[in-house]
Amino acid sequence: MTFELPKLPYELNALEPHISKQTLEYHYGKHHQAYVTNLNNLVKGSAFENSDLETIVKESDGGIFNNGAQIWNHTFYFFQFSPNGARTAQGTLADAINAQYGSFAKFKEEFTAAAATLFGAGWAWLAKNKEGKLEIIKESNAGNPLRNGLTPILTCDVWEHAYYLDTQNARPQYLKNFWEVLDWNVIGKRF
Ligand code: MN
Repeated sequence: MTFELPKLPYELNALEPHISKQTLEYHYGKHHQAYVTNLNNLVKGSAFENSDLETIVKESDGGIFNNGAQIWNHTFYFFQFSPNGARTAQGTLADAINAQYGSFAKFKEEFTAAAATLFGAGWAWLAKNKEGKLEIIKESNAGNPLRNGLTPILTCDVWEHAYYLDTQNARPQYLKNFWEVLDWNVIGKRF
């Protein structure tokens, strides 16, 4: 099948000053687009030619996995943002976070620490396991918890391309900004 770059549900300047229009022009317009272009070229004539993206994320390896998972991860990442969403967890997800981490503030601290200490390029995830419990997970490169049978809830891209234009080497400042644009109404529906 042919993959396409999904249209974002907000304008490229809508997340300023936390995530700049320039960052989205590159991160969404160039990087995310490149993964789509690459995957379309790679699946031609392969065993995954007719597979959907989730199957590719779960079952492929090598370049097809890297590009397919990066498409999935970036779409999941960009769609959890909004210029005016709920900035803390709501409803049953809030209950689960409070029960497991003590409070939203403690969860935020723990998730931020995972994202800050992830070495090199990768993704920090909040995911739900088969027992319905939440887990904070660090994945390198294009890693995705779907591969281990978990349900992704929240993700933070810590590849340098996610923040270098805005905060240069300062990943901790990027992580501060990240919390300011999350829409927990969207994230809660994933739980
Ligand atoms: Mn990225």
